[in-house]
Amino acid sequence: MIVGLFGGTFDPPHVGHVALAKTALRELGLGRLLVLVAGTPPHKPVETDAEARFRLAQAAFANVPGVEVSRRELDRPGPSYTLETARWASAEFGDPVLIVGADEFADFLGWHEPDEILEHVRLAVAERAGYDHARLETVRTRLRRPGRVAYFAFDPIGVSSRDVRARLAAGESVDGLVPPAVAHVIGELGLYRSAA
Ligand code: ATP
Repeated sequence: MIVGLFGGTFDPPHVGHVALAKTALRELGLGRLLVLVAGTPPHKPVETDAEARFRLAQAAFANVPGVEVSRRELDRPGPSYTLETARWASAEFGDPVLIVGADEFADFLGWHEPDEILEHVRLAVAERAGYDHARLETVRTRLRRPGRVAYFAFDPIGVSSRDVRARLAAGESVDGLVPPAVAHVIGELGLYRSAA
């Protein structure tokens, strides 16, 4: 059984995240997909409490068969957590697949020890139609094991967590941008009410 890994801050999770998870499950033939909610990521400040984001992710993916929301990365700050997660996941699940967006993969050489990460996990890059494939190939071919990177087609939905936070702070509706269960938890916890 192939296990997939999908990490993010999920501040909050939105319909784009859910669509990506569903597409990855189907296109990569995954038996399981672990959604890893980041604790304190090194690359961007996150104001929303990790436990709240964990609850939001549970709500977002509750109806997606095959997805499990994992606590593994909660409360683990530090610059090398992807490598640590990759090490852990390969020991647990054999040869797991890390799902990344094309934009993230374009920066992959700047991650902490990318070649080492690839020793532990394969990468599946979600590539939208029209993305600069040559740019991705430049990154892939510089890696020690380029054969460990594959692409799958995914058309992202035009939504970002930043956009959702901004709308909520402005008192606007986020109907259709986050799953209803996520909207419910946001309301219950009173999140994102002031300027993001
Ligand atoms: P922010 O707006 O706060 O930067 P984000 O919406 O990009 O957040 P993250 O939690 O940082 O959300 O993203 C986690 C993962 O989800 C990343 O791999 C990212 O590429 C992917 N992702 C983000 N937005 C979308 C989208 N609209 N469709 C599909 N995947 C997405």
